[in-house]
Order: sequence, then C-alpha cells, then structure tokens
Amino acid sequence: MKALVCVKQVVDHKVKIRIRQDRSGVDTADVKLSINPFDEIAVEEAVRLKEKGAIGEIVAVSAGGAGVADVLRTALAMGADRAIHLQSDAALAPLTVAKALAALCDEENPDLILLGKQAIDDDCNQVGQMLAALRDLPQATNASEITLADGSATVTREVDGGLETLRLTLPAAITADLRLNAPRNISLPSIMKAKKKPLESRSLESLGVATTSRLTTLRVDEPAARAAGVMVDDVDALVSKLKNAEQLI
Ligand code: AMP
Repeated sequence: MKALVCVKQVVDHKVKIRIRQDRSGVDTADVKLSINPFDEIAVEEAVRLKEKGAIGEIVAVSAGGAGVADVLRTALAMGADRAIHLQSDAALAPLTVAKALAALCDEENPDLILLGKQAIDDDCNQVGQMLAALRDLPQATNASEITLADGSATVTREVDGGLETLRLTLPAAITADLRLNAPRNISLPSIMKAKKKPLESRSLESLGVATTSRLTTLRVDEPAARAAGVMVDDVDALVSKLKNAEQLI
C-alpha cells in the first residue's frame, strides 16, 4: 500500500500577514514559511498508518518554487519515505495543482491520497475535491478518524449535525481536519536522517500540465480594523450601551 501525501508551503500560522503595497497579494518576502498545518496532520496520519502496518510507503509531494523543498524535508523528517518536488515558479491555482497531482497519481498509483482540508494561505478548500473529481476517486473531506482494512478506508468526518462515517473503496482521496491527530515533534536525528532520503525534483510541466491560470486576483485587502472597545462603569451602563447598539443594527 502506498500513500501520496500532498503538502503546501504557506506563511507560518504565527506570522502576522502583510499585504503588498500594490494590493496584489500577501507579502511573502522575508517571512517565515512552513508546512500548511493541515498537511502536517495529513503527513502525521500517513506515518501513523505506516507504523500500524496499514501502509508500506509514504511519498510526499509539493508543487511550487525552490523553497518548497523545505516542507518536503519536514515531511521526510516526520517519516515520509521519499519526496517529489513539482517545480514551478508560477502562481498555481487549485485546479492546476489538482491536475498536476492527478497526473502524478497516474504515474505513482497510490492507494491513498492524503491532503489537508485547506491551505491556510488562500483557504480555498478545493484541491482534494478537484483531484477526486478529475480521477473519479471516492473522496472524504474533513476527516477526523481514518482506518484502513481490506482495500477500503473508513473515515469519520465532522459535519454540522455531528459525526458522519463513510466507507471508501481504495484508491481514494481523503482530506485531513484539525482533530485527526496532533503531529509529532521532529527530533534532530530524524532531521539528519531525512537529508539522506530521496527528494526528486522535476518540472510541473513534465506532467503535461499548463500553469496558465484562469483565475485573476483583482485586489487583496486587509480585514477592516476593529473599533476600539469601551470600558463601562457598571451593569446598567452596559445594558444601556447594548440597547443602543441593538438600535444601530
Ligand atoms: P486548497 O484547496 O488550496 O485549500 O488546498 C487543499 C490541500 O491541497 C492542501 O492542504 C494540500 O494538501 C494540497 N495542496 C494545495 N496546494 C498544493 C501544492 N502547491 N502542492 C502540494 N499540495 C497542495
């Protein structure tokens, strides 16, 4: 059994986002970049499934510029066996990434494709679903529990009304939610060991996928600043303020 785990490099979740002066996007110059948190959870799940003997090989894949090799090294240090860097300096739209991953699946034939439920930079929540649609694969999004047995995956997912449990025939695409697991800390020996693991780099175009996007970002704005809070002297003052605020709504 082989798992393909898709990891994206994003601005670290602890960094305060800055918008470029021309409002064309988020400024990533001199900013700490890290593995997308949901993808870290996806890698952790693949490693746990391998530790249980349900998976034999874990292949991590990331599409993007030279820097994404760093997140692949993180995945290797967490326990992935090898990594593939789909090199492209273009701004990659979710559909382009999904097409590249679909073409890679045709070559790698994974039994399980694990992704994050969304990348925290653009919050698209699209690639997993698009990939499944492109290759007509069973899909389960927002997984909070995964078990593999007899060529199928049983996935629990959090939905508005509670928990939903699905059984998917493999190969399938599953996207990881926050509560699937808590990723391990990476030890220094694992980082050293990861340096010796294979990291293949190839152009995204080598998969026959064009990087021309049909999406145009018109403008990126910061969220409106919140109005300052006010201190009130007592409960009566608070109630009166709330009543006035209600009238404003
Ligand atoms: P998105 O649809 O952009 O929110 O991304 C959902 C998931 O798709 C991410 O959590 C990753 O697992 C995967 N993904 C998105 N972009 C890339 C990329 N450039 N390289 C590899 N995986 C990606």
